[in-house]
Amino acid sequence: MTTQPARLTVLAGPTAVGKGTVSADIRARYPQVWLSVSMTTRDPRPGEVDGVHYHFVSTERFEEMVAAGELLEWAVVHGRNRYGTPRGPVLERLAAGEPALLEIDLQGARQVRASMPEARFVFLAPPTWDELVRRLVGRGTEGPEERERRLASARVEMAAEPEFDHVVVNDDVHRATDELVGLMGLAPSEG
Ligand code: 5GP
Repeated sequence: MTTQPARLTVLAGPTAVGKGTVSADIRARYPQVWLSVSMTTRDPRPGEVDGVHYHFVSTERFEEMVAAGELLEWAVVHGRNRYGTPRGPVLERLAAGEPALLEIDLQGARQVRASMPEARFVFLAPPTWDELVRRLVGRGTEGPEERERRLASARVEMAAEPEFDHVVVNDDVHRATDELVGLMGLAPSEG
């Protein structure tokens, strides 16, 4: 039996770099790319759909899944809510020989690297640090305290770039998405 090609791609990067936007662009323009739907204990934001953007669950339910070994990785992100990747759907996908994409935080990416080192690890980077701060402030979804918390995480996360196999700069979402999809070995879409 030959070695498995790197079918699992893990996309990580600092807060507000645009991982969510890249995910949305992939859903819209690359429906053929299978994107894992994470579990989270945080509340839905306006427009977020349960089962599409996340599976929104209680802390109790999340802990049950952790105890049952149902998560491939999980982390408390920004010192608050829990986020995790359901293991079953990812393994099913890989068993079928199909590519899978995870959009997760750095702690999660490190856990996946420990258990599945053959995966492809992609760091989504901002064009500059100032641009990252501008995006975080401009998004307006967090209050000042939460923003500070996320900026502190982002500073630490930026230093992890050398751990990754590839760096994709999110200067333009369509371009970044096309590059990511290209790294996954899938054909970029037209236009
Ligand atoms: P948000 O609350 O803005 O949707 O996401 C906050 C952070 O959680 C982002 O950095 C995102 O990448 C991360 N995240 C989302 N899903 C998962 C997951 O399943 N596992 C881990 N470790 N992080 C996740």
